[in-house]
Amino acid sequence: MSFKIVVLAKQVPDTRNVGKDAMKADGTVNRAALPAIFNPEDLNALEFALQVKDKIEGAEVIILTMGPYRAAEIIREAMYRGADKGYLITDRKFAGSDTLATSYAISLAVKKLGSFNLLVAGRQAIDGDTAQVGPQTAEKLGIPQIAYAEKLIEVNKEEITIKRRIERGVETVSAKYPIAVTVHGSADSCRPRNAKKLMQFKHSRTLTELKNEERENAELYKSRPYLMIEEWSVADIKADVEALGLSGSPTKVKTIENVVFQAKESKSLGDSNQEVEDLMIELIDGHIIG
Ligand SMILES: Cc1cc2nc3c(=O)[nH]c(=O)nc-3n(C[C@H](O)[C@H](O)[C@H](O)COP(=O)(O)OP(=O)(O)OC[C@H]3O[C@@H](n4cnc5c(N)ncnc54)[C@H](O)[C@@H]3O)c2cc1C
Repeated sequence: MSFKIVVLAKQVPDTRNVGKDAMKADGTVNRAALPAIFNPEDLNALEFALQVKDKIEGAEVIILTMGPYRAAEIIREAMYRGADKGYLITDRKFAGSDTLATSYAISLAVKKLGSFNLLVAGRQAIDGDTAQVGPQTAEKLGIPQIAYAEKLIEVNKEEITIKRRIERGVETVSAKYPIAVTVHGSADSCRPRNAKKLMQFKHSRTLTELKNEERENAELYKSRPYLMIEEWSVADIKADVEALGLSGSPTKVKTIENVVFQAKESKSLGDSNQEVEDLMIELIDGHIIG
């Protein structure tokens, strides 16, 4: 009996190192100016999935990402670390999609993969920062979910036991399949690339990439079909266009505030407890924390 693990991973602009040209004049992220990276908590999600695969014979890890054609890079990265294959959901008609429209599209792609046992997502993406897509996708698939997973305790083909982070501590929960899990950044970090996997998958490409690279060696992809990364359009996942893009997005962006910290807002502290305490009181009084 096969055991299918689907991992949702997002390619995001590296908003941790924003320079002066990171934001456009209209306050939106200048994605071209920022390096595109594997969403950090999705690497924890990938590691979680690979730990399940290590424990269940015949288990398969499939990466699913929705994004522009260059998001195929994170599918390759995941395969270098142990994922078996990946699918890129890409179409201009997705532009303007908020989290509801995004999770709708992702849920249709998961359905297209057929039956599965485990759906694993990161807790949160560092660009939208809503932590909504994982739980929303589970809802659209009509399956239960365990959020903020921190550690895989036990797993077999019947059920899974997980330690998860809750507001004031941790909780251990067990569940039968199918189940969705969102993984917290405090979980194990992802294993590094495997040299053999790197050699095996370094030529893996989507059709769009092959066209852009004007690659001729069709023979290679005919003889090794696993090197083809499938691209799925709106039509491929049979999505209703009205439920995508701005028309499918109830989130209306009212204003976008461009917050760039100036040096004058920083404060240097000595190492006395009193100074730390005074700062804490100042931050609490200022409603900045607490
Ligand atoms: C009105 C509006 C228009 C927008 N237009 C665009 C646009 O044109 N282009 C654009 O890129 N963004 C756009 N966004 C932002 C986009 O909606 C969110 O970034 C996206 O829905 C994911 O939400 P999030 O970043 O909060 O992720 P979270 O909900 O924090 O992500 C949680 C987890 O879900 C999974 N996940 C999230 N997104 C994806 C994905 N794309 N593929 C696979 N797994 C995923 C990952 O595992 C991730 O860790 C728009 C948002 C709004 C409100």
